[in-house]
Amino acid sequence: MFHAPTDRDSFRFALSYHQQIYGMPGTWRTDQLRKAAELLKAGAVDEVEFLEMRDLVISMHAHAIERVASDRVHALGFYHVIDESNGAVVGVLERRHLAARQHPHLDALRADHDADGQLRMMEARIVDRGAIDGLTWTDAKGGGAYRFHLVGHLQNGRITPRIIDPDHYRLVRDLAREALAAGDQARADQLKGRLHWAAWARCPVCRERFDLVDDCEACAGQGLVPAPVPSPGW
Ligand SMILES: [Zn+2]
Repeated sequence: MFHAPTDRDSFRFALSYHQQIYGMPGTWRTDQLRKAAELLKAGAVDEVEFLEMRDLVISMHAHAIERVASDRVHALGFYHVIDESNGAVVGVLERRHLAARQHPHLDALRADHDADGQLRMMEARIVDRGAIDGLTWTDAKGGGAYRFHLVGHLQNGRITPRIIDPDHYRLVRDLAREALAAGDQARADQLKGRLHWAAWARCPVCRERFDLVDDCEACAGQGLVPAPVPSPGW
């Protein structure tokens, strides 16, 4: 007999969906906590069960965040795939899918987490083509070595180019402050998303204070320092 999946089934299945747990830990946690709250509201679980479910989600999320802290291939990132042997861009990685039409042996691969939380390049979801370490990957089949170079990120479903020019960064930051001062939270969040993915961040030593910045050795008086590629756990 056909058994329609319930919210309880959906909650339980998601506990073993490691691509989602390690791939988008924040989203997974939010979804699971919402499902648990809905089950409690509908009377499908009691208070004790609800608290157990919540604790389980929180501890699994904490473990996943720790495990993927060194990951740099973000599900929302847009990367150029660079061949280490000649520096050529051979394809792009978007939503962890590799598109390389000129290089069929690389085309349609997908970066996914295994059950241990290690990010691997997979072919047709079955063939393991090797582990991804930070932003580097060596093809276990073809032997080639590749780097993933962050050039943008997906925001509201669209590819937004990464800010690489310091003056561009300062301008967008000023716009974010103006939006916040004007009470336009949606626009401020949009602009802050771009700043989060930018190649620059405010210098943590002088914090751009006018009386410190000129003599600051950490940023050479720029007020900004190069920002690392964001990790997926944010
Ligand atoms: Zn500084």
